[in-house]
Amino acid sequence: MHRNTLSRTITELKLDARALRDGFSAAEVESGAKALIEATPEFWEYPMCDRDPLPRWSHGRVTLLGDAAHPMLQYLAQGACMATEDAVVLAEKVAAQLDDLPAAFKAYEQNRYLRTGRTQIMARVYGEFYHARGVTAELRDMALAAPPPSLSRRSAGSAASSAPLARRSTVRGAAPSTSARRASARISVSPSTCTQA
Ligand SMILES: Cc1cc2nc3c(=O)[nH]c(=O)nc-3n(C[C@H](O)[C@H](O)[C@H](O)COP(=O)(O)OP(=O)(O)OC[C@H]3O[C@@H](n4cnc5c(N)ncnc54)[C@H](O)[C@@H]3O)c2cc1C
Repeated sequence: MHRNTLSRTITELKLDARALRDGFSAAEVESGAKALIEATPEFWEYPMCDRDPLPRWSHGRVTLLGDAAHPMLQYLAQGACMATEDAVVLAEKVAAQLDDLPAAFKAYEQNRYLRTGRTQIMARVYGEFYHARGVTAELRDMALAAPPPSLSRRSAGSAASSAPLARRSTVRGAAPSTSARRASARISVSPSTCTQA
């Protein structure tokens, strides 16, 4: 797992600059990148943290949104996307139940927790995938070198891969609202097509 448990204090996150420069000078690194590393006075490790998915994050007239509700690793680049989707759904639920905020917050949470939980879990899976070593890395590289199944199917004359992104990424049982579906269509969330926010 590539999760930082934050067991160290912030000053312990400062890296040994000399060891890092030595490591890079021995490695095959492009000269421009090497020069950049040489010119950098200090280096800090960036802690990457997540949490296990939660089924509840609303309590009465208090609710959470974004990283506060579902912090995730960076491997799918979905943290801000999920926060944006949260905002769309939350606004919709509050508008529909202005006189009962606790109920609106519960409805928002119910709409979101499976989708955000899935993204948290898949970000971990992709972290393992990207950082694989040994046989796992070899298998990964073989899988990536092979043509995507959708292309093979297409070349065989099948239209099976033409399902819209939003439909493929919908979580079973988490019936998204109309505006959430619209948000899904705008914000690419499929693990195989994640985009920069
Ligand atoms: C290097 C990096 C790259 C990323 N790339 C992507 C990407 O490509 N795509 C993507 O979708 N996501 C990406 N993310 C994730 C994304 O940035 C976060 O998921 C997103 O910012 C979460 O938004 P948020 O509003 O929940 O929290 P935040 O953006 O963390 O906002 C919380 C705010 O609350 C403030 N705050 C905290 N405590 C208090 C307090 N007590 N009082 C007042 N204010 C307070 C903080 O200063 C902060 O401004 C990336 C994150 C990092 C670190």
